[in-house]
Amino acid sequence: MAPGRLESPITTLPDSSQTTTAPRESHFINLALTKTLPIPISGKGIELYLSDGRTIIDGCGGAAVSIIGHGNEEVALQTHKQGLQLAYAHPGAYTTTPAGELCQFLLDGNPHGFEKVFLCSSGSEATETTMKLAKQCAFEKGEPERMHYVSRWQAYHGSTMGAMSMSTNLARKEGFEGLGYPHVSHVSPPYAYQYQKSDETEDQYATRLIQELDDEFKRVGTQKVLMFTAETVGGATAGCITPPTGYFRGVRKLCDKYGILLHLDEVMCGVGRTGTFYAFEQEGIVPDIVTIGKGFGGGYAQIAAVLIHKKVVDVFRKNSKPFNHGHTYESHATACRAALAVQKIVRRDHLIERSAAMGKVLDAELRSQLAPCKSVGDIRGRGTFMAVEFVKCKDTKESFPPELRYGIQVQRFIHDLGVDVYPGAGTVDGIRGDHILIAPPYTVTEEQVRHICSVVRQAVLEMEAVYM
Ligand code: PMP
Repeated sequence: MAPGRLESPITTLPDSSQTTTAPRESHFINLALTKTLPIPISGKGIELYLSDGRTIIDGCGGAAVSIIGHGNEEVALQTHKQGLQLAYAHPGAYTTTPAGELCQFLLDGNPHGFEKVFLCSSGSEATETTMKLAKQCAFEKGEPERMHYVSRWQAYHGSTMGAMSMSTNLARKEGFEGLGYPHVSHVSPPYAYQYQKSDETEDQYATRLIQELDDEFKRVGTQKVLMFTAETVGGATAGCITPPTGYFRGVRKLCDKYGILLHLDEVMCGVGRTGTFYAFEQEGIVPDIVTIGKGFGGGYAQIAAVLIHKKVVDVFRKNSKPFNHGHTYESHATACRAALAVQKIVRRDHLIERSAAMGKVLDAELRSQLAPCKSVGDIRGRGTFMAVEFVKCKDTKESFPPELRYGIQVQRFIHDLGVDVYPGAGTVDGIRGDHILIAPPYTVTEEQVRHICSVVRQAVLEMEAVYM
């Protein structure tokens, strides 16, 4: 038998159904120091089964993570087999078979010109990696004065120091003022519902945003900016912020003009969530670097990826320089095997097409079921990535008082009714962007979509009865 091959195929997993004892709260090392979180014991498809006997319909895939649903045996078996065969080899010394196959899968027949992939363990690491990649790229090009990053307001790129500096979700930065990388500034996001003027066309709005970016590049100094970072479709902060037509074409043009790298963060909106593998495929542009996470491992592995365009790779190639960066757990074999298994299922079962189709059903259901709701100001998104924004007054778009945390209350109410949606938070001014996010697994059925929407409607109407 060839070295590294399994002696016998593994066909069954050890029975884990006995491990239903709920861990004590003190076992958790997380932020929930002051509250007890529900404990999911198992999951199947779109359902989570809690230790208290409740069943929860997962209407947001956790945080837009579970794209093929829970409890997938194919993925579990593949991961199990890989663990028996080889779980880990140091990434500085070896490229494991699953890491190689996963990169191949991502780059195969790739029409976008990405040449290299860096596999890491989270979206935050992917952002950090991208920041360092851009910096070394400038260094290799003989442009050491490029030190500055530009990102957008109402953005989230991760919780580690560098990624937090790029992020502008104020709630998640509270208590950390003064920390982080200092050379970062921010421009307005394409948040039409709140910020497009009433006398402005979509085209004029996009032009105004591009002008603001141009002004910011010039203010900093076009020779000093390394990279512009943006979520193609904004996720967690203000809820499914979709760009106006032409916005990203304008951004691309500007970055090219000044030699500034364009990084699109698709950790939340990528891997089919918006109906195409990359959300940027709907924008008619290609970034220099794109990061993916969440749905990449589909919840079966902690994995994210940085895809790097030939244009950037060539800079390193020319100087025969490796990227001076690494993590012990990058390209982890079982994580790669799990992600590959998830992605093969997505491709085989045409789940990205399904995300697009179910997204249309979700959009239509939300619009019809929430039509009577007085606090629903906007419904937006793409594919199975939809947000509902709440306002106190539809005419003025006046928000509820921030201390009411209306969107979060709605989310909790929905959870009590047996459905999970993802909560939104305050934004640049602490108010606008009060929302919930709905992002079910792509395997969701029309009936389940209708059920999720009807529960959302019930919760919103009951909230309105109290607060409006
Ligand atoms: N970028 C975006 C767009 C995200 O939504 C997130 C997570 N919400 C991150 C980066 C950070 O990913 P992680 O939590 O895996 O570190």
